[in-house]
Amino acid sequence: MARTGQQYLDDLARDAREIWLDGEKITHPLEHPQLVEGARSIARVYDLQHEHADEVLFPSPLTGEPVNVSHIIPTTLADLQRRRRSFEITAASTGGMMGRTPDYLNVTFACFAGASSVWARRGNEQGAANVVAYHELMRDRDLSTTHSIMNPQVDRSKPEADQAMGEVSLHKIGETESHITVRGARMLATLAPFADELSVYPGSDIRPQDGRYALAFAIPMSTPGLKFICRDSYTKQRSRVDYPLSSRFDEQDAVVIFDDVEIPKSRVFLDGDTVGYSEVISDTGWRGHIMHQAFTRAWVKLSFAFGMGHLIANTTGVVRFDHVQEKLGQIWSMAELTRSAIVAAEAGARTDQHGVFYPDDRPFLALRGEMPKWLPRCHEILQLIGGAGFMATPSEADMRGPLKDEIAKYYQAGGADAERRIKLFRLAWDYVGSDLGSRSELYERFYLSDSWRMTALAYTLSDKTFPTSLVEQFIG
Ligand SMILES: Cc1cc2nc3c(=O)[nH]c(=O)nc-3n(C[C@H](O)[C@H](O)[C@H](O)COP(=O)(O)OP(=O)(O)OC[C@H]3O[C@@H](n4cnc5c(N)ncnc54)[C@H](O)[C@@H]3O)c2cc1C
Repeated sequence: MARTGQQYLDDLARDAREIWLDGEKITHPLEHPQLVEGARSIARVYDLQHEHADEVLFPSPLTGEPVNVSHIIPTTLADLQRRRRSFEITAASTGGMMGRTPDYLNVTFACFAGASSVWARRGNEQGAANVVAYHELMRDRDLSTTHSIMNPQVDRSKPEADQAMGEVSLHKIGETESHITVRGARMLATLAPFADELSVYPGSDIRPQDGRYALAFAIPMSTPGLKFICRDSYTKQRSRVDYPLSSRFDEQDAVVIFDDVEIPKSRVFLDGDTVGYSEVISDTGWRGHIMHQAFTRAWVKLSFAFGMGHLIANTTGVVRFDHVQEKLGQIWSMAELTRSAIVAAEAGARTDQHGVFYPDDRPFLALRGEMPKWLPRCHEILQLIGGAGFMATPSEADMRGPLKDEIAKYYQAGGADAERRIKLFRLAWDYVGSDLGSRSELYERFYLSDSWRMTALAYTLSDKTFPTSLVEQFIG
């Protein structure tokens, strides 16, 4: 059943885990000042589904209770459109700054469950049944799940088994009747302090002889032996005026260490099948479904960047300069092309071989290589439009302090009084220039793999029939 924010927080408070942050071991993230605000932002996402219940909740096929439409296995266009609306509502609550809100993994496992026959190949019927059961558990308990699909960067030019004696990448070390045991590490797991569960599934190809690295499973964050080492917290324990984004939207990123972790067999989805390890990504429709979520959030974030750029340019009057208008036009075009791609993907959706309504992934494939360039370009454009205004940003304490009259006079702008101007520039700086802003830029460059490989993939998967026929009519 769809949880409220309070129910999510209550469950998080009950559930211990091993999180390390700046040398400190944290078992309850809500008790840590650097983590509690991130949890509250996820709680807000849970509340939103109740505020928009008519739009985003649907009855669970198992229990009949209301659950979020991000868990749906779509069979109609209306399903896709409702799901997209749910992505929009979630993304808008953070301006698209939190990429790994629970809908990301909800979509992933709904897709995997909808194509469970792919998981069942080569005698893995039990793994496939486990995937379906896990999707139902996520949906009906409304879990928050993180994932970790990449092994650490030891030597990317070599297969897992040939790096660091094969010991660093996550691998299987044993098995009993009831569980498998795994050891090694994975990077990264965004949302780790705020998730109920950790999932592991494929992120790269594995050689046939390296079956012990071909694993997929999901386990509670409290599972013994699981350790999460966070990067520095970017949460600013400051006023919402000073850091409107960093004060609440740090979703954290942690390296996961599996210290001989026992995975119950009922939670193992794939064990040793190196062919399946590729197929569950290529043949389940994961790409189209995850990009439906990812580019809806990207559209929200581009719209957010456009809104900031537009307001900044109008505040300081630079909007009159044609090259500034051209830069703002670039951001608008990126947002509009993204919206158009989503519409095109939905308009071209069809029922696939699994009986699932699958977005036309071509417009998404085209965006997948471009978006890692577009969102960083927005950062650059905002800097070019705002100039040194980002540095003329006294704090809320300054604005309310002894210099408040001077600040009111000397920070006024043609398009806004001093307070509004300072708030706007502080918001935009938190977006482009704070440590959270820089992390957000890195995230957009890499979270769906890099632009270069994704553009090459778009080329590889593209239908060349019509383009080559145009040429062949002259040379054939
Ligand atoms: C902020 C952030 C949050 C993230 N959160 C998660 C998460 O929650 N879960 C998760 O699983 N992952 C997460 N990721 C990791 C993400 O999956 C990886 O960043 C992505 O797969 C790219 O891998 P990499 O970062 O290790 O870069 P690398 O693969 O090491 O690439 C580094 C550079 O080398 C080049 N390169 C590497 N290999 C090749 C190759 N074979 N051919 C050509 N060029 C190559 C790349 O193009 C790039 O320029 C996150 C990443 C970031 C930045």
